[in-house]
Amino acid sequence: MRHAKNNEPKEKVDVLGVGFNNISIDEAVERAMAIIESSGNDTSENASLPNENANNMIYRSASENSRPSDDYDVKAFDSEIKYEKTYIVTPNPEIVWLARRDENLRNTLNRAGLVLPDGVGITIGARILGTSLSKGRVPGIDFVSALLEKMALTGKSVFLFGAKPGVAEDAGEKLMQKHPGLVIAGTADGYITNSDTVAARINSAHPDLLLVCLGAPKQELWMADNLSHTDVKICVGLGGALDVFAGRVKRAPKLFQKLGLEWLYRLVREPRRITRMIKLPLFIFVVIWRRLWAN
Ligand code: UDP
Repeated sequence: MRHAKNNEPKEKVDVLGVGFNNISIDEAVERAMAIIESSGNDTSENASLPNENANNMIYRSASENSRPSDDYDVKAFDSEIKYEKTYIVTPNPEIVWLARRDENLRNTLNRAGLVLPDGVGITIGARILGTSLSKGRVPGIDFVSALLEKMALTGKSVFLFGAKPGVAEDAGEKLMQKHPGLVIAGTADGYITNSDTVAARINSAHPDLLLVCLGAPKQELWMADNLSHTDVKICVGLGGALDVFAGRVKRAPKLFQKLGLEWLYRLVREPRRITRMIKLPLFIFVVIWRRLWAN
């Protein structure tokens, strides 16, 4: 197991008030595995979650070349490996856009153990703002697929929470076929309204990893509110991933993924997403505006 080295760069990149980890998929998987494999942790309600006082990292923001970003009330949170309960978020421009005006959501994102840049819009936004997520984007579904692959090697278990009734079960079947050795500890659909019921189900399953797939920002808020009531060390918010794992929704072809155009593919297949996707050009507009205003 790898431990954090003191000389490792500890930095986040600020994109409109949300601090993203500049790490590769492999590094993200390594960190998540380190937490999963750590033993002797207190995973009870008293175990600490990342908090507002953990701010000893280097925080690199657009203000390096421009004005301070404190009008966004950015808080810096420790991005070092901590062998304790944590949640991982994978925001896209739409969520960053919502977080601009929603302090609770912004803090929820910034308190995550890892904040992974899911969409190409985030890496472009960072570049326009004068900073760089030099290790590229980390699509949540690719990160989790790589993590499950690693977990399968040592028979680790995952609990699938979210999507319509029946979807998580189908996703579990497919994931076990794809990653022999992986254990599906349990499932719960995303329309059970009582969080205590879900937490009790998760606790009786003792999973090594919890996937929370309720769509954003519902899943981020659920993780922040409920992780402390569960016995899991680590959970990841993963939007519509269970629909994809179950084969109910097709991911964009590889070429679209490579070009960062998955959003376009989804828009063509699901035109009703237009009202959500309108936030992408708004996000880019504000990013450009900020950069111009800063110079
Ligand atoms: N969902 C859920 N409970 C809810 C609302 C949504 O489980 O109360 C599920 C929904 O069935 C779908 C996922 O959350 O599987 C949201 O998918 P979407 O692609 O919209 O999420 P995104 O990845 O865009 O955040």
